[in-house]
Amino acid sequence: MSTPVPVPRRRRVIRPGVPDNEVLRQATLDAYRILDTPPEAAFDDLVAIAAAICDVPIAVVTLIDHERQWFKAKLGLDTQEGARDTAFCAHAILQPQETMVVRDATEDPRFRDNPLVNGIPHVRFYAGAPLLATNGLPMGTFCVIDDRPRDLAPDQRAALEALSRQASRLMELQRVSGELRLQIEERGWYEQQLLHYQQELESQNADLTEQSMTDPLTGLSNRRAFAQAVDAAIDAATRDGTPLAIAVVDIDHFKTINDLHGHAEGDRVLQALGALLKQDAGAARGRVARYGGEEFVLLLAGLTDAAAALRCEHLREAVALAPTGLPVTVSIGVAALRAGEDATGLFARADAALYQAKRDGRDRVRLAP
Ligand code: GH3
Ligand code: MG
Ligand code: MG
Repeated sequence: MSTPVPVPRRRRVIRPGVPDNEVLRQATLDAYRILDTPPEAAFDDLVAIAAAICDVPIAVVTLIDHERQWFKAKLGLDTQEGARDTAFCAHAILQPQETMVVRDATEDPRFRDNPLVNGIPHVRFYAGAPLLATNGLPMGTFCVIDDRPRDLAPDQRAALEALSRQASRLMELQRVSGELRLQIEERGWYEQQLLHYQQELESQNADLTEQSMTDPLTGLSNRRAFAQAVDAAIDAATRDGTPLAIAVVDIDHFKTINDLHGHAEGDRVLQALGALLKQDAGAARGRVARYGGEEFVLLLAGLTDAAAALRCEHLREAVALAPTGLPVTVSIGVAALRAGEDATGLFARADAALYQAKRDGRDRVRLAP
């Protein structure tokens, strides 16, 4: 009978389980934006304190990423990351509320075949306190490691857990300040955009105001702009006791001009008359507007009724003599402001005078009584 040959124990690494809430856990860790960032003295100080208090050669702040563990701070280790499959910390985060202590890894079935136990750094003793995010999920651990079996005294264990909380708080602080920085940058960008839109709106408003005050065919002021000018002029005349008159100018038989020569030719006549009135108004320091269709209005500030009528008489002659290529004449009604009269009353009298001019045979000026 032969003695049985001892069968060598099969070496098999026991892989850490995956936390139930792994997707959320990974997302939580990612939100900290800490993975693959450069070393920082604040974290390095914490691992140095842990190594001193626990009297170990190795202390690490490690984060459990998809397939790896990555070291934010390390003392006594040369590598920057390792496989998650062989990470002690990947086991530690499965019980996030507890500090995982392995007194002798060679006696723990989970770790005795682990390459970190059988090779560098020859882990024997491990204690890892999970690093918890504010939502309670574990991001990694704060751990201390020794290459000889041992345990932690209660005060050392309490210190390790306190340091783990400090590391978590530091991460949280950095996450919040990073978010604030982004928000401030974003806010600056929004403010720029708002300013830009506001400037654009203001310039568009200015254009619109200009457009809303201008008659597009002749470029003269329109009825709205003229109404404002008349109100202001009446106020000034009333205040200063100076004379003011307005004139309504209407093209005679304009419909016939359109009918005989076409609408485009009619437009050209309106433009030519507009230019002539503008020239005249400029010289008279008054204002001129296209009031509607083929009707124009003049604001004759500082002119008494007689002076205003004379001015309009010159204007009527100028129109009749203008080289428009067509026989264009105008009828004009003039009214001088009475004491206490408003724009509507003044206008009504000028209009009535215009109709009198039409009735009297057109191509003439009539002064309102
Ligand atoms: P009256 O001497 O009594 O003022 O006769 P009229 O033909 O000038 O007056 P009426 O009010 O009968 O006709 C005005 C015409 O002006 C009718 C309209 O087609 C024309 N008209 C109004 N606005 C425009 C315009 O912008 N362009 C052109 N070409 N014609 C216009
Ligand atoms: Mg007319
Ligand atoms: Mg008319």
